[in-house]
Amino acid sequence: MPAEILENCIFCKIASKEVKSRIIKETGSFIVIKDVNPVAPVHFLIISKKHYASVNDIDEGFNGEEVFKTIKELAKEYKVDEKGFRVVINTNNDGGQTVMHLHIHFMAGKTFGWPPG
Ligand code: 5GP
Ligand code: ZN
Repeated sequence: MPAEILENCIFCKIASKEVKSRIIKETGSFIVIKDVNPVAPVHFLIISKKHYASVNDIDEGFNGEEVFKTIKELAKEYKVDEKGFRVVINTNNDGGQTVMHLHIHFMAGKTFGWPPG
């Protein structure tokens, strides 16, 4: 098992395809899947292939440019670039993070309020 894959981490298992899931998009460093419990009509998770517990653990190997490119592509492909979308990274307890493997929520298809609850 490569060092960047953590045993018993569900997103490591999904990203390494040990656990099967329908992959919407794959880049060098990320996979995109549908959230199992969507909070919007469009709700994807952009999951890092390398295990980082959260944003706090990101190192120089993290490809932030690829994240933004993926967000832009998803918005275009799902035709929500004009209407809009929301991107969220929950981090640790106060941020509401439940899966301790870095992922970015991409949500669209409804109007989100601000500030969030
Ligand atoms: P967090 O609160 O950590 O930012 O969000 C974790 C998200 O992952 C939740 O929205 C939850 O529905 C989703 N999730 C948790 N386990 C799985 C899974 O096994 N498959 C998929 N597709 N989504 C998951
Ligand atoms: Zn992991």
